[in-house]
Amino acid sequence: MRVTVKSFESEEKKQDRCPYCVGDDDFHPMKVLSNGRSICEKCGHIVFPDDGAFRCPCLRCIEINFSPRIRRITNRELAQSC
Ligand SMILES: [Zn+2]
Ligand SMILES: [Zn+2]
Repeated sequence: MRVTVKSFESEEKKQDRCPYCVGDDDFHPMKVLSNGRSICEKCGHIVFPDDGAFRCPCLRCIEINFSPRIRRITNRELAQSC
């Protein structure tokens, strides 16, 4: 069998990890949808493994896309704008 080595060493779990919530203490695995997407129920972040060009419409990704260098986003602001 063939093993693909990825940058993440702990690949024992098939579930994706939300890059925005991975640092939280109560980590929730992303929910895998029937169409192959994975969505973080915590922040709405969506991962589309089969489509690298897929752009997640969640709030945090939009903020990053518009302001790559933005550093002034706080959790409070994100929560309010939801
Ligand atoms: Zn998340
Ligand atoms: Zn996102």
